Amino acid sequence: MERGAGKKPDWLKIRLTSGASFAATRQLLDRHSLHTVCRSAMCPNLQECWTRGTATFLLLGTVCTRSCRFCAVGKAANPPVPDPLEPEKIALAIQSMRLKHAVLTSVTRDDLHDGGAEHWVETIRAIRAITPSVTIECLIPDFQSNERALDLVMTEAPEVLNHNIETVPSLYMKVRPQANYTASLQLLQRAKQQHGLTTKSGLMVGMGETAEEISISLDDLIRHGCDMVTIGQYLQPSALHLPVERYITPDEFDRYRIMAEAAGFQHVQSGPFVRSSYHAGALTSNTEMIC
Ligand code: SF4
Repeated sequence: MERGAGKKPDWLKIRLTSGASFAATRQLLDRHSLHTVCRSAMCPNLQECWTRGTATFLLLGTVCTRSCRFCAVGKAANPPVPDPLEPEKIALAIQSMRLKHAVLTSVTRDDLHDGGAEHWVETIRAIRAITPSVTIECLIPDFQSNERALDLVMTEAPEVLNHNIETVPSLYMKVRPQANYTASLQLLQRAKQQHGLTTKSGLMVGMGETAEEISISLDDLIRHGCDMVTIGQYLQPSALHLPVERYITPDEFDRYRIMAEAAGFQHVQSGPFVRSSYHAGALTSNTEMIC
């Protein structure tokens, strides 16, 4: 399946370790009829994260209005209307899972007048209403640079505002043709400068980028007020998606980590299986977090 780069190297072999805690997480998510990006994006860390009792909630359904070529999430121009009960269901699940740090993300909903921003706000408020101690990380879409929509979510002051640039600018047309690199940087800058939020972004590597391009993007993120960064290997979800150009070695991931730390990031995660929500709680100031 991974045509461009050939056979998967040993360091990308996943150790499957599911047990009672994995089943409990799955049952709870199913009981609340909740969607997760863990499942929708076919995340390689699903077994590990669910066994640890954590997950990343996917808001606004499972169908995205964009056609990014790396992403396994389903796509259509007119997805179903969002479930108005979803905010409450997510809040109840977070309470049941006893999460100290909750990570939310959503499909991109360019079909909605506000991109789904009000639904995001309702979800954040529902969570805090019943679990006020939980810290919330919002991995948001770009809301088509709609400032009102961005401000709606940012005004809720999530403990972490995450928005992925995903790749270097030279690959945008190939990887995420409906997105805009500069707009993503400006979103992060808005979160920092106008709302004083802790900001985070992420990059996939192995798509044809060079180390020099990664270095430039890391500097771009720093100049736009980004505090934390994640760097992980792109994996092709199916034969219909972009092939992997190259498997980045663990040593190269170490070099990217050193590069990012030298650029000035407060927290860096860099490794083959790193995803933007992987061990997300460990990147915040609450060292007791389980997520
Ligand atoms: S890394 Fe994030 S998306 Fe992947 S399984 Fe863990 S919580 Fe889910």
